[in-house]
Amino acid sequence: MQNPLRNLAIRTRLILLATGSSCVAIAIASAGFSYFDTQALQDALVSQTASDAEMLAFNGSAAVLAGDEAAAEELLRSLSRQPDIRVGIIIDPQGRILATFPPIPEGDRSSVIEAVRKQSLSSSEDFTSFRTAHYRFASDGSLELIQPVIVSDELIGTVYLQASRDRLHREIANYRSIVALVVLMSLFSAVLFAVLVQRRVSDPLLSLAEMARRISHEDNYTLRMRGHTGGEIGILFEAFNRMLDQIQHSKDELAGANDELEERVARRTAQLAKARDLAEAANLAKSEFLANMSHEIRTPLNAVLGFAELLRHGASDVTDSERDEYLDIIHTSGAHLLQLINDILDLSRVEAGYLQVELRECSPEPLLAEVVALLSVRAKQRGLELNYHWIGPKPETILTDEYRLRQLVMNLVGNAIKFTPDGRIDILAELEPVDAVQSDAEKKLSRLSEANETEVTDFYLRIDVVDTGIGIAPDRLGHIFEPFSQADTSITRCYGGTGLGLAISRRVANALGGRLEVRSTPDVGSTFTARVSAAAVQWRNDRDEPLDEPDSDEHQNDILNAELPRCVLIIDDGEANSRLVCLLLEKRGIATTVAVDRHEGMDAIYTGKFDLVLMDLQMPVLDCFAAIRELRDRKFFIPVIAVTANAMRLDRQQCLDAGFDGYLTKPIQSQQLFDTMSEVLTKHRSEVLMRHRPDPLAPVRENSE
Ligand code: ADP
Repeated sequence: MQNPLRNLAIRTRLILLATGSSCVAIAIASAGFSYFDTQALQDALVSQTASDAEMLAFNGSAAVLAGDEAAAEELLRSLSRQPDIRVGIIIDPQGRILATFPPIPEGDRSSVIEAVRKQSLSSSEDFTSFRTAHYRFASDGSLELIQPVIVSDELIGTVYLQASRDRLHREIANYRSIVALVVLMSLFSAVLFAVLVQRRVSDPLLSLAEMARRISHEDNYTLRMRGHTGGEIGILFEAFNRMLDQIQHSKDELAGANDELEERVARRTAQLAKARDLAEAANLAKSEFLANMSHEIRTPLNAVLGFAELLRHGASDVTDSERDEYLDIIHTSGAHLLQLINDILDLSRVEAGYLQVELRECSPEPLLAEVVALLSVRAKQRGLELNYHWIGPKPETILTDEYRLRQLVMNLVGNAIKFTPDGRIDILAELEPVDAVQSDAEKKLSRLSEANETEVTDFYLRIDVVDTGIGIAPDRLGHIFEPFSQADTSITRCYGGTGLGLAISRRVANALGGRLEVRSTPDVGSTFTARVSAAAVQWRNDRDEPLDEPDSDEHQNDILNAELPRCVLIIDDGEANSRLVCLLLEKRGIATTVAVDRHEGMDAIYTGKFDLVLMDLQMPVLDCFAAIRELRDRKFFIPVIAVTANAMRLDRQQCLDAGFDGYLTKPIQSQQLFDTMSEVLTKHRSEVLMRHRPDPLAPVRENSE
């Protein structure tokens, strides 16, 4: 059942509580007082009546002894002064009434005494049976008292008094009226007091309730309770404020976390959108790439197959000059295809993040001189002037990837030669401080070069390739670094090319810690500026040395006079390939033998008849790495060149690490073949010399012994 007080306002509850508790207290107190006062009044009546009876017994003993009714009557008359005494009787030991109050005629006395006896005494009792004073309340509420009159220990009579309790009842009624009045006044005071005092308790609680309502309604946790500091209410306010502080703090943290989450979600969404765009772009690029690839490969292949077909079926109709022309076209198309495949492999490696940069100490100045020497033949053929200048102090070595640096420069200079119909090409190289604005670094550069010190500083190797060629239209400048992008579609027709070179070059420059930029004016010329990071620069003190002008003729002669083997073993199961190699070698007077599997090949090697071995890496039965290990383990140091169609750069290093002396990729080009053989043989000879040179310390040791 629901508590009816539950929904009452706190004020009403407090008032009810205060008045209720006062009521209970007052009621208990009044009841107590009333009971005790009633008892006291009653006791007073009893003791007054008892003392009257004693006094009558004492004073009336003589009259009783003498049986003097008149004296006894006279004595009883004194009871008229006692307003409460209604009846008084003196009885002798025989039960005879001596006197009554108020006086009763003689004849009526026996009936009176009988009535009194019946009313006051039980059947076994008699007035003369009491030897001590005795009182009781009769059924009509009056007080009856029996007092024996004893003289010398002998009962000579009995005094009977009957007192009315009317006065006692009136007094009690008066008393109760007063108590009721006091109770009412006390109650009124209690209510008044409760009404006044409850405010002190209920007001703070009501303001707390109001504050809680406002906070939940306005969702405002910055509000605080103020005013009360001491007592339980103060503690309640403080606790409430602390709780609000904590909620506010948690809310702030939650809002912060929410903001951060939203920010992260937004960031992530943006990243996902970007990734999706990139994926879509990559997909598009892949489709474009495949379409371009197909086009780029089919075009030269078409020429190769078409002209080969012409020569095969119509050889008799073809003149000598036409045949030479067709063969030239087939060769050029084949070379173009090879270049395309190399470029695509390179680009795919770069795109897949496999562009490995191996930082080694490298002398940039001879490297550039070598590239210029190599390309000066082509430049001369096109009637172009090719110049190379090193600006400023020359470093002895820098830390970079020599292979990639050479690839970068070859591509830029190759392009310059290709796209310059007449005029000149200048290659300018210098070391440039990374922060060129910082003049301190430049000062340091000159100071270091003068002192010929070695120190690690941050520089770029800057190479400018300046040509006076056809230039590039401004609207195409931004696109020439994209794969398969050429400034003009007519370019492929006039100059050839795959449109991959600059894309690769830019990625190579980036991988070398630098960048590739271009400035160009159509019909005036272009300047390609490549910067690559040049760490751990070691200086050389040769600033006064004249610039090395590479002597390209001398280089060519070197190549022609290079050391060549007399007898070569070719281990290859591909008949066409081994046939081609045999033809190339035999044209230079080199004897050849072909082995088509491992046993044949290894047996031939162990005959010791051969100066050099060309070993195909993709032979089905032959594990070439096991074969080379076997040879080296058995101290067979014959130079072996690995030949492979897998033109990944990693394979090259793998082969050299495994014990091969050189590395050639298919299709084999004659110049490359002879260069590699000569390089390998020269190196091999010097190693043999070293191995067989007598120990210069040996005789000394012998002597000393
Ligand atoms: P490719 O030379 O094989 O076509 P590249 O990526 O090396 O491919 O060059 C892309 C294009 O940039 C070339 O087709 C040409 O239009 C333009 N280009 C590159 N170098 C030069 C240059 N030195 N002068 C003029 N145009 C150039």
